[in-house]
Amino acid sequence: MSRRVQIPAGAVLGISALLGLGFIAFNPVLSDSTPEAGVLEPLHAAAAEEVRVETLDRGQTFGGILAQADLSPSEQHSLLLAFREQANPARMRDGTEITLRWIRGAETVRGVDVAINPDELVRLERDDFGWRSATVETPVWVDTMKVAGVIERDLWSAVVMNPELAEMPRGDRARVIDLMDRVFQWQLDFSRQIQSGDAYRLVFEREVRPDGTMRTGRILAAELVNRDQPLYAVWFDLHDDGQGGYYDLEGESLRRAFIRAPLEYRRISSVFNMNRLHPIYGDRRPHIGVDYAAPTGTPVMATSDGVVTHRGVRGGYGNLIEVRHANGFMTRYAHLNGFASSVRAGGRVSQGQVIGYVGMTGTATGPHLHYEMHRHSQPVDPLNVDIPAGDPIPDDARDRWEAEFGVRYAMLETLPGAPELRRAAADGEQNAAGTSLLVVDD
Ligand SMILES: [Zn+2]
Repeated sequence: MSRRVQIPAGAVLGISALLGLGFIAFNPVLSDSTPEAGVLEPLHAAAAEEVRVETLDRGQTFGGILAQADLSPSEQHSLLLAFREQANPARMRDGTEITLRWIRGAETVRGVDVAINPDELVRLERDDFGWRSATVETPVWVDTMKVAGVIERDLWSAVVMNPELAEMPRGDRARVIDLMDRVFQWQLDFSRQIQSGDAYRLVFEREVRPDGTMRTGRILAAELVNRDQPLYAVWFDLHDDGQGGYYDLEGESLRRAFIRAPLEYRRISSVFNMNRLHPIYGDRRPHIGVDYAAPTGTPVMATSDGVVTHRGVRGGYGNLIEVRHANGFMTRYAHLNGFASSVRAGGRVSQGQVIGYVGMTGTATGPHLHYEMHRHSQPVDPLNVDIPAGDPIPDDARDRWEAEFGVRYAMLETLPGAPELRRAAADGEQNAAGTSLLVVDD
């Protein structure tokens, strides 16, 4: 399969041209411009180039494609030797894109790009002595996306079905929900605490590959109005090391000693069947924990740092992990299918670490996680337990915080808030998913 593309100098470049002519990245985080997704800034193209993109079909080889490109056998040999310095041609998968490049009007190929995986390509170029090769990162561009919506059924459909995100691949929309889950994981259990009428506003930055998929994404600012209580999260890289964290409007860290739920929101099966009530799984009674329906094998996370006090079978709990935490807290994770190999009795675990996998061992009629939290030997509700706030922005970083916060919060403020979103919903501006939204033009 092949397609041939003519590239006029100075044009706005398409995807194939981007691959052919080099690297684009610009970072609008703190600039005034927030370009639309998928629109590239015009490039000053050096020389008009012609490219042909071949896709490796089943049974085709890299050598076969080179042979069709009017390269002499010795040139093909030289090019393959150079390629082998970077990757094994026998391992190239079906569907691999190979881009051949010419100077317009010239006879011979002067460059070849092979996309060996979504993030890397092998670039082959001719010089006076033959072919040389290099592995380069697939070019990406960075853009900032803004989206708002009101939740009519559940967060999942409110985000995944939001037409503002229609241009994004579905898998990437699911990743946006993961990003939200990670931002608010200390404040909310998305599966049990989001309710109809809640609203969200998000500003996020992403790196986009030439095929339109997201390489990385990061929420810069978010608001989630849950039961009329607004929660805010603004990203700030305190130590300037690329790690960063989330802070509220007062500059208090969102981080807490416990995350609310031991499972990632999108892995919980009730999310998908739109069932707000959790089914009964027939585990031990009286019931003093929280049940999460999830497929067998779903990773289970420790909700806080601690020491493992039990790892093994215990009666109706089946496979159980029990962790002791600071300040008199203890958590239990029951009916597990298995344990993470890093977890042993007496060992330490850290918050968010995968400690085991959902199962139905012990007294359970279906795969689910039974989660308990105790304090001073009394069971407590993990959703209502009071956990002290995280650390605020230190004084010596306050000026930088104020400046960056201002920019990110201003982007959030360009989106409609919960009252407007609800009014739009009441006026019947709904899409097929029953999710209301306002479309925002920059
Ligand atoms: Zn239970």
